[in-house]
Parts: sequence; C-alpha cells; structure tokens
Amino acid sequence: MGVRRKIRIPTLVNCKTCDGSGAKKGSTPKTCGTCGGAGQVRMSQGFFSVQQTCPECHGAGQVISDPCSDCHGQGRVQEYKTLNVKIPAGVDTGDRIRLSGEGEAGTHGGPAGDLFVQVSVKPHSIFERDGANLYCEVPISFTTAALGGEIDVPTLDGRVRLKVTAECQSGKLFRLRNKGVKPVRGGPVGDLICKAVVETPVNLTSRQKELLTELAESMGEGTNHSPKQKSWFDGVKRFFDDIKK
Ligand SMILES: [Zn+2]
Ligand SMILES: [Zn+2]
Repeated sequence: MGVRRKIRIPTLVNCKTCDGSGAKKGSTPKTCGTCGGAGQVRMSQGFFSVQQTCPECHGAGQVISDPCSDCHGQGRVQEYKTLNVKIPAGVDTGDRIRLSGEGEAGTHGGPAGDLFVQVSVKPHSIFERDGANLYCEVPISFTTAALGGEIDVPTLDGRVRLKVTAECQSGKLFRLRNKGVKPVRGGPVGDLICKAVVETPVNLTSRQKELLTELAESMGEGTNHSPKQKSWFDGVKRFFDDIKK
C-alpha cells in the first residue's frame, strides 16, 4: 500500500537577493589575491612544499568585499519547506528514503544536495513487528478455549477466521503464513503470529456464578482437568521437599 506523508523541514536555499553569490547587488565577488582563485596555497617548509587551503578565502577562490546583507555573504538563507514524501509499503524503522535534489543548496550558488528521510515506524495498537513477521495477541473466551470454535483475527488485509481446537491453552501460537509484512527491498513475505490469551469472564450474573460453581464441583473429582496446574504443583512439592532435606 504505502502512504504519502507531508514533512516540514528547515533547509538552506540560494539567497534570491544575490543569486547565491553572497555579494551585494551590483557588486561581484573578486578573485582572491592570495591564492589567485585556486583556493589553495603552497607553503614551502625547507625542502617540502605543502599545499593548504587558502587562509584568505577559505578555499572559495573568491573574496566578497561587499557582502549581501540578506545572507551575510553566505549565499544561502534558511527557509522551511514542506515536502510530500511517498513512503513505500514495507519500510521499517531505520530505513532511509533518498530525495535527490531536495537537500540544502550548495555554497555560492552550487547545486542542491540530496535529502535523506529516516523512517521511524510508530508502534501499532494491535500488531508488533519483528522484521517481516507480525505478532498480535488474540483474546479467547474460556468457553471457546475449552470447547473449541472460531475466532476473528485481524490481518493487514482484513479479518480472517481462525479455527481454535478444543482445549486451547493460553499462550498457544497460531501462525498465519504470508500475512506479515512484504519487505520493501524484496525477500519473502513474513507471517502473522497470533498468541491466544484466554480470558477470565467478568460481570457474571448469579446464575452464571451458580453454573461455574457447579462446574468447579464437578471438576473436583477424578479426572485431571488442569494439565499445567498438576505439573506446577508437582514442581512446587518437589521444591519444598528439597528444602526440607
Ligand atoms: Zn545574499
Ligand atoms: Zn584565496
């Protein structure tokens, strides 16, 4: 899909008053007398001759005796501009989008550079992203978890119905192949991984509480109905037995 985003950025543009030259209207920059316009000077030190940036013009090759008052001789002024940036689908935090020619103006009327827009992906309310894969938690009622059924899960292309088998435990992962992110630089489409979170019912009526009490009583005898609890209690018992020794 992708998206378009307007961004407002400070930038340096060519000064219109002096056309980027930095010299006051009517005057022109003069060729630097120290380096003869080369921007570099040779310094002799004994046998050696060292090339250095001209200290007079700082490498520009020209000196401005009468600087433009709008840009103070810089040839560039700060301005704000608004850009409409196309963000391609699949970008991730840290990706950079290059906008050629949208950077700051060069010095003394030079061409503008490129602008790099660094992408920072906002956290999503439902999906968590890890590379091309997406993760989300899906609440499941405890009756659906126990008896099995179907639940709606969100994907980037809309709702998908997911079959939940009976005796589904909290934390169970459902992998939906190719329902993740299509990476912007190519490569396989990721998966959507849904984690079942079994919910404890709230706002129960007295009738519902009665039914649950009945259920609890019926589960008290004989068959083990809590696979995790059994091994957990066994573990706790072993832990205390070890301390007693
Ligand atoms: Zn100017
Ligand atoms: Zn110079």
